[in-house]
Order: sequence, then structure tokens, then C-alpha cells
Amino acid sequence: MVEIRLRNSMTRKVERLEPIDPENVRMYVCGPTVYERAHLGNARPAVVFDVLFRLLRHVYGADHVTYVRNFTDVDDKINARAAETGRPISEITSETIAWYLEDMGALGVLEPTHMPRATAYIGAMIAMIGDLIAKGHAYEAEGHVLFSVGSYSNYGRLSGRSVDDMIAGARVEVAPWKRDPMDFVLWKPSDDSLPGWDSPWGRGRPGWHIECSAMAHELLGESFDIHGGGNDLLFPHHENEIAQSACAHPEGGFAKIWMHNEMLQVEGKKMSKSLGNFFTVRELLEQGIPGEVIRFVFLSTHYSKPMDWTQKKAEEAERTLLNWRTLIARLGVDAVADILRAPSINEEFFSALSDDLNSPGGRAILSNLASKVRAGDSHAAKELYGSMLLLGLDLNRDGILEILVAQIHDGKQRLNTQGEHSEKIGTLVAARGEAKKAKRFDEADRIRDALARAGVEVVDTPDGAIWTIGRGFDPAKLEGLL
Ligand code: AMP
Ligand code: ZN
Repeated sequence: MVEIRLRNSMTRKVERLEPIDPENVRMYVCGPTVYERAHLGNARPAVVFDVLFRLLRHVYGADHVTYVRNFTDVDDKINARAAETGRPISEITSETIAWYLEDMGALGVLEPTHMPRATAYIGAMIAMIGDLIAKGHAYEAEGHVLFSVGSYSNYGRLSGRSVDDMIAGARVEVAPWKRDPMDFVLWKPSDDSLPGWDSPWGRGRPGWHIECSAMAHELLGESFDIHGGGNDLLFPHHENEIAQSACAHPEGGFAKIWMHNEMLQVEGKKMSKSLGNFFTVRELLEQGIPGEVIRFVFLSTHYSKPMDWTQKKAEEAERTLLNWRTLIARLGVDAVADILRAPSINEEFFSALSDDLNSPGGRAILSNLASKVRAGDSHAAKELYGSMLLLGLDLNRDGILEILVAQIHDGKQRLNTQGEHSEKIGTLVAARGEAKKAKRFDEADRIRDALARAGVEVVDTPDGAIWTIGRGFDPAKLEGLL
């Protein structure tokens, strides 16, 4: 059996994954709070854990992995958004969930096995809170239920902080109903203007941390293999999840391996609204940056390192994808058909990915494969194509490989979603070629720039100019160019 090794934030070591049940490998990842479009940082955990999901499915079988990623659809930020806009909460959360799935889908993120909404698990949360009170780990005070941090001796193990450090450094909420400032809310009262559910402690709503503990328990059981999220969640969210779950189910181990992705920055700075470098995934897609380019850029940095999003990296990634596609297409129709029929995964690449998701190391191996493809090695092309697929990157998306191979070798288009426009594009590309030949470079550049504005990229290869289409393709901009 292949060995997958993952860095466990709990032990601070890279450990071998030994699934509790290899027939059902289980992973939980904290999902978004749904009140606005996902920003680029939110996409990082979605992509990172999607790669892990794909790797697990590859190793253990697609039917032997259960991946849960929740939607937090009850939260004070959502309530605030509803109050500001006057819109019903359910409308805001449903709309945001649909956006999230659409945006992550554009980045090639597979849907997890379960995507529970917190509001569908309120009963399980109430039961778990009741259990914690009965076991002496929680207490009721003025309509609130609080978890008693002092009742759990391992508190602070994940984040490596002592309770004293936490009190000194943390922004713990001091409230008169708390016995200890570190105690955190499991349940809080709701007035009539706020969403609420009946409970033994009156009408109220859950705290954020109990949501994940309850959903993980309902869908994955008392013990499961991997728990993930951004490292901003390590404390207090994950520390609190552990405290709740370990105290409610002392026999279960909760998550065996804890994984945290580092944060995303933009052009070297923290992404923030005040710095004006805050943008959503949708905004990037609308600027014409293909989802696969965003994904490829993400995977060029190890998940455990801070990652810097730059325009330059996006441009480089886009060029590399097109370059690799072109190299494969130049092998010819038969070779491409064979590659698509029977892709394979390069062993060295697979080892890199299995070694704590070393995607940047994997990318370097893919670059070496691309050099071999350039030298005409069609086995390397099979491995390049298959290894990229494992990363969730399809070099033949929208039939691009077939379009390229047809242009290079047949001079005609096949399986082309832009078929109706290809004749016109072909004529423009040919006109550019003629202009170049006649040394009318200004005209050649003008045609190339106009094509680029319409989302058509022209690349010069030793076999002549070829073109391809990005997601920002806008056929209306081709009008009037001839
Ligand atoms: P939230 O909706 O704020 O709970 O965040 C959803 C997910 O996005 C969590 O796993 C966060 O850790 C993650 N996240 C938020 N901001 C960033 C960022 N700048 N870089 C990477 N991950 C982030
Ligand atoms: Zn969580």
C-alpha cells in the first residue's frame, strides 16, 4: 500500500496516515461562513484539501473516502448582514452557498461527500451541549451555556499555549456570566429579532465551535482521520472543537491528524479591504483569469507556507499551461488520442504529492516531464497529463488539446466548443502571419492584440502560429476586425 505522510499540527511532526478504516477514510474541513462571496484566501483551503481528497480517492478508491466540509449558516456576521440589508437570512445564506459552489467549481474543486449546513444539525448540537453539562464540562448562566475550559486538562495542546498565555494574549470576552474568562459559549440566547431554536436553556442559537463538533460527530463518528482548515482557525476554533468533542466522547479520539494551510497574501501584503488588495474569486474569474490558472498558482506553493498571489505568477502559470498543452499536441493526433485514453501518473510526482502534499516539488517534476515531451517522448506526455489530472488540472479542458492538435496537424478544427468562431479566428491568425511575413509588424501586432482582447491567445511554434481560447473569450470583440 502506498504511504501518505502528512504533517500533524497536533504532534508537530510529519506522520504516516494510517486510516482507522481504510474502507472509509474520513476527513472534516471547516467550511465558510456564508454571507458574502468567497475571497481569494477562502479558496486556498478549498483547493488544498481538494487535492488531498483526490489523492485519498486515488489511493483508497473513490467510494472509500468520506469528506465533510460544512457551511456555517448561523453566525452573528450573517445576522449583521441581514440587519444591514434588510434581506431575510435564508436568502443571504442560500445565495452565498450557491456562489461558493459555483466559484469553487470554477477552480476545479470537487464537491465533498457531505456539505452540511449548521442549521440542519441544531438538534445534534443541543444534545451534545446537554451531554457536556451532564458530564460536568459545561454550565448554564443567564440563558447562556458555557464550556468550562478548566474542566479539560489537555486544553491548549493543539496550539501549544498554556491557559495563562491565552488569558494574557487572547481577546477573550469577559462577561459577568462566565466563571472563568477562558470559558467559551456553546449556546446563547436570541431575542425575537434573531434566529433561534427552542432548547432546555430557552430560545437561542449555537456558538460557532459546537457546530463543527456536532456535524463531525453526526457524519464521521467519534474518531476520524483528518481535520483541516486554515491556520487562523487553530486557536481558538480548533482548540475548542477538540475540548468539546473529547469531553463529550471521551472514548473517541476525534481527529487523528490536524492539518492547517497557511494564509494567502497579495503582492506581498496581507489581503485586506483597507489596502485595496482584497478581491473575490469571482472578480478574478471575471477579469478573464481562468480558474485552472488560479489553482495552478496556488499549488506552486506548499500549503504550509504563506502564499503570495501576484499578477506575474498568474501570467506565468497561464503561459506554462499553454506551453505544456502545445508540447503535447505537437506529438500528433494518434499520440494525443492515446494519452487521453490511457493517462498515467508519474511515480516520482506521486511520491512528492504523498509526502505531505508537496505540490511545488511535484510541479518541478512536471517541468522535467515537459522537457521530455519537447524531445518527443510520448510516455512522458502520458505522465504529464495523468499527473496534472491528479492535481485537478485537465490539460484537455474544453477539448483544448484536440483543438491544438487539429490546428497543428490537420489544419481543421474538431470537438471545438468555439467551432462557429474558429474560421474567423483562423483567418485573423493567418492575416497576422501574412503581415509578419511582409514585415508589416505594426499590423501583425495590432491583430494579435485585438485577438488577445477578445480572449484568443496566439502562440508561435516551430510548426507555425497556433491559437487557443481562454475563459474570458468574447466573440463580440472579434466583430469588425477584418
Ligand atoms: P471563514 O469563512 O472566515 O470562516 O473562512 C473560511 C476558510 O477560509 C477557513 O478555513 C479560513 O481559515 C480560510 N481563510 C480565510 N482567510 C484566508 C487567507 N487569507 N488565506 C488562506 N485561508 C484563509
Ligand atoms: Zn470548524
